[in-house]
Amino acid sequence: MKLLKTLLLTNTAENINKAAEILKNGGLVGIPTETVYGLAANALNGKAVAKIFAAKGRPMDNPLIVHIADFNDIERFNLVREIPENAKKLAKAFWPGPLTMIMKKSDIIPDEVSAGLDTVAVRFPSHPAAQAIIKAADIPLAAPSANLSGSPSPTTAEHVMNDMNGRIEAVFDGGACSVGLESTVITLAGEVSRVLRPGGITVEMLKDVLGEVEVDNAVLHKLANGAKAASPGMKYKHYAPKANVILLKCSDDEYIDYVNSHAAENVAALCCDEDIPSLKVKTFTLGKRNDYISQAHNLFDELRKIDESGKINTAYSRLPSTEGVGMAVYNRLIRAAGFEVVDLEKV
Ligand code: AMP
Ligand code: MG
Repeated sequence: MKLLKTLLLTNTAENINKAAEILKNGGLVGIPTETVYGLAANALNGKAVAKIFAAKGRPMDNPLIVHIADFNDIERFNLVREIPENAKKLAKAFWPGPLTMIMKKSDIIPDEVSAGLDTVAVRFPSHPAAQAIIKAADIPLAAPSANLSGSPSPTTAEHVMNDMNGRIEAVFDGGACSVGLESTVITLAGEVSRVLRPGGITVEMLKDVLGEVEVDNAVLHKLANGAKAASPGMKYKHYAPKANVILLKCSDDEYIDYVNSHAAENVAALCCDEDIPSLKVKTFTLGKRNDYISQAHNLFDELRKIDESGKINTAYSRLPSTEGVGMAVYNRLIRAAGFEVVDLEKV
C-alpha cells in the first residue's frame, strides 16, 4: 500500500470543506461521530469504498453503514427500494442518533458497501461535524469504525491516527466521542424487526416504539460453526486487545476472590469503581457497577489502555448484565474475550 501523508484537520469551517473535498475526490477521511470515529468514503463510489477495506484490513464480506445528514437523504440519494413504516417511526424517535437501520437496497448501492447482500444499513449521526461534512460533500458516506480490523473502535482522533496514519488522506478531530460505542443495528428488511447489534438505543427503547422486536441469536451467543451471520460483522473476534480477556460468571465477591487468587505482575482486572479497593492487581475501571452507559463509554478506551500498559497479558472481567445498555457492553466484551467465559458457579 502506498504511504499517504495523513492530514490532521482541526475543527474549523475551512477544514469541514477540506474534508468534504477529499471525500468527493474519492479519498478517505476519519470522521468523528457520537458513537465512534468512522472511516469515511463516498458511499456511491465503489472504488473509493474499496479503499476502506484495504486501509482497515477488513474482510470484504463485512458490509458498511451509510451515513446521511437528514432523513430525506434516504429518498434524495435513492438509497433504498422502499422506506418501511417502521423506519419512519424509529427515525422520528431516535434520529439523529446511534441507531442504524437496515433496509432493502436500491441498485445505486455498490457491492462494496453491501458486501453482496440485498440490503443497506443507514444511519443519521447526531455529531455536528459529521453532519457538516456530509452536507458539505453532499454525498452519503460509507463509514465503518476507523480502527484496524480486529482492534477496539477509536473514540478519539488520536486513536484513529495511531491505527491509520499513512493509510488515509485525513483525520478530522471533532473531540472525544460522547457515546463511545458503535450504533445499535436493527434490520427492518424482514417480517419482524430484529436487533443485530446492541448499542446505546436499547431493545427496551425500540420495543416502546415498535412493539415487537427480536434480538438476533448472534448478539449474545457464539455462532455455531458454519452458521450464517445476519450481520456479518458479528462473526469476527472483534474489539480485542492483545491481552487475553477472560470473563467470569460469578457474584461480586467471587469475582474479587478469584482475581486476587490469580494476582501477578501481568494480570489485571477490567472492573467497576466499587471493586478497586478490594483488588490486589492493576485495575482498569469501566465505571460504576450499575452505570451501563458509562461502562459502554469507557470500554474501548480501557481495552486500549490495557495494551498500552505494555505488561498485561490477562485481564479478568465480570460477565455483565444484559439489561438496557448492559446488553451492548455484554456483546462487545464477550467478543473481546473471544467468547471465553469461566462459569464459577459450575467450577
Ligand atoms: P462497523 O461500521 O465496523 O461498526 O460495522 C458495521 C456493522 O453493521 C457490522 O457488524 C456489519 O456486519 C453490520 N452491517 C452493515 N450493513 C449491514 C447489512 N446490510 N446487513 C446486515 N448487517 C450489516
Ligand atoms: Mg468496527
